[in-house]
Amino acid sequence: MDNRKPEPISIEKELHICPECGYEDGFHTSFSRVADKKCKIILICPSCHAMYDVNWEVAV
Ligand SMILES: [Zn+2]
Repeated sequence: MDNRKPEPISIEKELHICPECGYEDGFHTSFSRVADKKCKIILICPSCHAMYDVNWEVAV
């Protein structure tokens, strides 16, 4: 388990290309709990494993 910080990223028109390595087929997703009933969804590039935080929170 690594604990690199996800990099904040903003979505312009769309987001499926990794800004780090140019991988074009989208991202894996993972969850990071930020509160009792709230998780943040973190995007992970399947190619270079860069992590991105799109400020996407879900109640779970
Ligand atoms: Zn990448």
